[in-house]
Amino acid sequence: MNQYGIDTTCVQGGYTPGNGEPRQIPIVQSTTFKYATSEDMGKLFDLEASGYFYSRLQNPTCDSVAAKIAALEGGTAAMLTSSGQAANFFALFNIASCGDHIVSSSSIYGGTFNLISVTMAKMGVEVTFVSPNSTLEELDAAFRPNTKCVFGETIANPALTVLDIETFAKAAHDHGVPLIVDNTFATPVNCRPFEWGCDIVTHSTTKYMDGHGAAVGGCIVDSGNFDWMAHADKFPGLCTPDDSYHGVTYAERFGKEGAFITKCTAQLMRDFGSTQSPQSAFYLNLGLESLHVRMARHCENGLAVAQFLAGHPKVEKVHYCGLPQDPYHPMAQKYLPNGSCGVVSFELKGGREAAGLFLKNLKLAAIETHVADARTCCLCPAASTHRQMTDEQLAAADIPAGLVRMSCGLESSADLIADIEQALAQI
Ligand SMILES: *Cc1c(COP(=O)(O)O)cnc(C)c1O
Repeated sequence: MNQYGIDTTCVQGGYTPGNGEPRQIPIVQSTTFKYATSEDMGKLFDLEASGYFYSRLQNPTCDSVAAKIAALEGGTAAMLTSSGQAANFFALFNIASCGDHIVSSSSIYGGTFNLISVTMAKMGVEVTFVSPNSTLEELDAAFRPNTKCVFGETIANPALTVLDIETFAKAAHDHGVPLIVDNTFATPVNCRPFEWGCDIVTHSTTKYMDGHGAAVGGCIVDSGNFDWMAHADKFPGLCTPDDSYHGVTYAERFGKEGAFITKCTAQLMRDFGSTQSPQSAFYLNLGLESLHVRMARHCENGLAVAQFLAGHPKVEKVHYCGLPQDPYHPMAQKYLPNGSCGVVSFELKGGREAAGLFLKNLKLAAIETHVADARTCCLCPAASTHRQMTDEQLAAADIPAGLVRMSCGLESSADLIADIEQALAQI
């Protein structure tokens, strides 16, 4: 499908039926697969032949959908996971384990921040958090001899900062390690991090890719560009024999194109089992078929709402990289020329109390712990996800008490703005 544009790949990538085969990706609802001889099956276990034997490792429905996402990102291999959390954990842990170190942007999703700073710390992986605005020199200073990768988010959830992918990639490569970027908010429709030097992309497919709030899921895509063997001392898991897999050396057997995803499937999916169900993969694919159409509308609504809010007297500040006055606008023009996403955050003048009143009076936008689906939703972090913090702690974490995060859906922007206007009038 690679000869086609991104719109066509959204619709038809990943699955090409033969004569008389189902037009839609079949849901292969089977845990296991039948073989005529033990020798046939043995070849699969030895990774000598490719095929299916157990759906915890691989399933045809999931593989077709992963292939579509690989094509959308311009990568060489991909795998689905049960959630975005599993995707980020697998992507990091596939190359960084006990005794290793990660450099990560500090502006990342709360769940990933917790994963890296608490849970992976307990597993013996250390982290240095850096500003998403770091210069090359500042990034250089964060590396250690045991650093194994650099991590960031194209557009961070919920801070909406934009990562300087090219600078982060250069720093990573100067130190012989890959850059991993969570591309959930931008989606490959608006940014393809591989084109800027990123090596591995992750997604919470729960968000825009699914787009309808239907199924939790994740994905990891490899660009196939990082040369593991050129830095073999840093990546023994990829460059020396795996005793738990019949002595296979992934980087030798599967090359730059396939080593990362094969190891991640053969080891981490085998042992942790955070697999996506074929049913969820089917829903995900329905979402992907219209991703290019929906993203344009999410961005159009996000911009219209951000512009309206920026001109409203009860609004203190608006965060949206599509606005020319936003500090991330120049970065967005470089990496996101066709639009960013539908999520806008803004501060109300009356703080926590005003935010509560505003949310209560919205009629169309619902209060939800979610973003990036067809229906507009919003929340006040100080009253929900971060409610254990005092106003002082919130200020220190750059989350004002009156901050509202609104994920603009696919409704008419005029209706969304009218709803916001009447809710603001009641504060
Ligand atoms: C939601 C989200 C995640 C976690 O994904 P789940 O599917 O909820 O596990 C990771 N990264 C980003 C940027 C997200 O928005």
